Amino acid sequence: MLSCGQAGRSLYWDALKAAASIDTSPATRARRKRGEAMSNTIAADGRRLTRRSFLAATAAGAAAAGLASLTGCAPQPSASGSLAETGDQAPIDEGTWIAAACWDNCGGRCVNRVLVRNGEVVRQGSETSHEDSFGWLQQRGCPRGRARAQQVYGEDRVKFPLKRKHWQPGGGENARGDLRGTDEWEQISWDEALGYIAQEAERIYRDFGPTAVIGTKALAVGKILHQLGGHVNLSDTSSAGTYSFNLGPLGLPSQDLGKLNDRFDNKNAETIVLMGGNSAWSSGGSTMNNFNEAVDAGVQFVYVGPSYNATAAYFDARWIPVLPGTDTAFMLGVCYEMLAQGVADLDFLHTYCVGFDAESMPADATTDEHFRGYLEGAYDGVPKTAAWASALCGTPVDDIVWFAETIGRDHAVMLMHNYALARCNGADNVPQLFMTMGAMGAHFGKSGHACGGAYKTYAGAGGPELVTMGKTGLPATKNPVADTMPEPLMWQCIQEGRYNSTGAAYGTEFNAETIKEADFKWLCVEGRNTLQTAVGTMAAMEAIKKLDFVTDVAYTFDTTARFADIVLPCATEWERVGGFPGHQRSRETLVVYNQVTEPLWEAKTEFEIGRALAQKLGMNPDELWPISEKQAFFNQIATSTYLTPGGETAPLVTITADDIAEWGVDGEPQEGDIALADFLAAGCYTVKRSEGDAYSFIGYADFVADPTANPLPSPSGKFEIYSQYKADTLNAMGYSPVGTYKPYPNYVESPEGREGTFRDREVGGEASEYPFIMYNPHYLRRAHGVMDSSPWLREAWANPVFLNAVDATARDIADGDTVRLFNAHGATLRTATLTETIMPGCVALPHGAWLNYDADAGVDRGGMDNVLCGQVTSGMGTSGYNNYNCNYEKYDGEALVPDCELPQRAVEVA
Ligand code: SF4
Repeated sequence: MLSCGQAGRSLYWDALKAAASIDTSPATRARRKRGEAMSNTIAADGRRLTRRSFLAATAAGAAAAGLASLTGCAPQPSASGSLAETGDQAPIDEGTWIAAACWDNCGGRCVNRVLVRNGEVVRQGSETSHEDSFGWLQQRGCPRGRARAQQVYGEDRVKFPLKRKHWQPGGGENARGDLRGTDEWEQISWDEALGYIAQEAERIYRDFGPTAVIGTKALAVGKILHQLGGHVNLSDTSSAGTYSFNLGPLGLPSQDLGKLNDRFDNKNAETIVLMGGNSAWSSGGSTMNNFNEAVDAGVQFVYVGPSYNATAAYFDARWIPVLPGTDTAFMLGVCYEMLAQGVADLDFLHTYCVGFDAESMPADATTDEHFRGYLEGAYDGVPKTAAWASALCGTPVDDIVWFAETIGRDHAVMLMHNYALARCNGADNVPQLFMTMGAMGAHFGKSGHACGGAYKTYAGAGGPELVTMGKTGLPATKNPVADTMPEPLMWQCIQEGRYNSTGAAYGTEFNAETIKEADFKWLCVEGRNTLQTAVGTMAAMEAIKKLDFVTDVAYTFDTTARFADIVLPCATEWERVGGFPGHQRSRETLVVYNQVTEPLWEAKTEFEIGRALAQKLGMNPDELWPISEKQAFFNQIATSTYLTPGGETAPLVTITADDIAEWGVDGEPQEGDIALADFLAAGCYTVKRSEGDAYSFIGYADFVADPTANPLPSPSGKFEIYSQYKADTLNAMGYSPVGTYKPYPNYVESPEGREGTFRDREVGGEASEYPFIMYNPHYLRRAHGVMDSSPWLREAWANPVFLNAVDATARDIADGDTVRLFNAHGATLRTATLTETIMPGCVALPHGAWLNYDADAGVDRGGMDNVLCGQVTSGMGTSGYNNYNCNYEKYDGEALVPDCELPQRAVEVA
């Protein structure tokens, strides 16, 4: 019998491999819609595709999600702190089911329930509080959520305060920074740990000032830093990439989110285009339910990206292959073709946009150049034809031509992008160009048409929030230091003692290049795994040696904790009084969770850590944390609201005088739509929807109906295909030569990427030393780096590197071989999985594996993607996770041990 892991891997990859060769031509799709048997379909490789293999292929996404049930039947760990198995026979009706948290930044926000018996978590499950229907979706979890118990009670928990053995306060030689990552550990008391932090804080702020300190989040220690004088901020573009630019001046909402149509409208499209992303994995599959009606209605799905992934397979999408980081070239080719085919809507472009052509230039334009002129080669002599684009993006010309016709003005099309295409160097024009492509087809403001971000909760579901999480009542603190350095360059900044302070991403305006000198001493990490996710782990391992002090507040002994000097054990969400996950599940759902256990081992909540450190430093903790955690949670519940069908904002939760007395908090009784006990028992509140209800929404409908009365947030009030602000800002930031960026979306070479795969960057010429483009797909085994050491998830998901079968075979590499992946930034090992489902020239190394560096061999054995990422940026200073160059070869050194056979990374104390 197959184990859960074997079953999942086999089913999933067999299905995907079959799917890779499915004929998705319009004719075949039409036959499918008519219900003809697939047995007549001839696959691209000449094999006859059976109905059975087709069904297997379309079930691929379901196979990914199906692992939930496989994992869910596995035995649960005990609450005693060990991973002792209690067997898989634990009756589901003996004990107490509690709605618990699943909280990391995976892309979903699900209801996660645990069965507690005799103080032990013996099973996990998901939402059952109401029946599941399209109008009233259950908020079901994925395999990661079902394995949370292995994380909370895992051996790799930070169980008590830790001190790196050879680190001593005082800075300089005392720090023995050279031993970070390899030193031994000592268990110390909370009093000692906080004493060290207080002592170093006083010394560093006194002698070097606040710009010697780099902080991550203001949860516990970070709030104290604000009181001590502040710290240098990090401009983090990790998630949204170039969509973290200030998009208002282009006419778009922040991160381009919330302006798709209501999910009930998806079925009214002829075609839904998904550009990048993989909801089936990153959001655990749940958000894909937003498309259920569209699937049933036979809407055509198109997936654009470097691989035919689980999401594409689930939707039986036509795959348009585009090499990582070349989406700008692809979209320019599409726009040119739309013009050439006469399927661009010039009326829409002239009415609702500025800068498409000479007829619609904005008032603040400083040049006569416009987008149409650029497309036609008027300024550089290069028409951006499908053939021009194809050479850069690797997409067959016929696919570009077909795509342009398909998204033309005469078709009802929804264009949805994820952020994968924006997490690339050279992608700074992606937001403006995606919007331009949508405008050329007039895909705004109408039923069946949409254009915007489909990310996490917004995947195919636009519109304003119908339920809104309340406020804790805790005072916010403000960092007195405004300086911000780009996180993708932070290790280089530490080494060089200088940084370019250009402002923070996400909604704020960037400023021109501003170089500041700095002598960094303290890296203060909390709520983040900085060495795992800030670009360039190899650079990090060197730069971090230079610092006097590295602190971390963590609940697992992750990559950053291993390189710290003092590690404070943090309680997980299961060990708190209760709370809300940071992001909302969707506009229709508010997820809430309860306490499962008291803090384990010596862990404390950030609330407790912050208060204790404040006291150690002689501050009054009541000024920063004036209310209890329970009161803060209660306040958040009491101030949560929902939108009534009549458009009123009303309290969500009914709270009685008895509730207040039972909780022992301050508050007033109130009437809401759900009783407090019911809300906490269900673990969520979901608005019950129906076709045509009061919550329907069409993005940009008001703007399209009356652009003068309802202007967009840009200077012109319209979509800015010519944006003087964008060009002036990007050209001034100091990461690319002045003049690189035009006010319209132009093609910009990436520092690495497509050009970097060729010698002397001559596209089409001889291959370079690093002829592949590596990208980092999110992986169901973990959420970024979180949960990567869960034994069950390691068994289910082996974390190979995915290689194009033709490329790999040419290098004499077979399925299961160990390969060494390498580039100018580092080297890592993985087992190869050969597939026809990714484009030639690509390497897909799953995101987030933990570092396992073998210093003797000079190679990471953990398959960590960030080892191959370097301190390279351009444009707005964004990360380039998805388009670094690399090479690979068969590895003849010590064989890799499968990850699932490695022990969890428990801390050994001296
Ligand atoms: S990891 Fe994410 S998608 Fe999976 S159950 Fe948890 S919240 Fe849901």
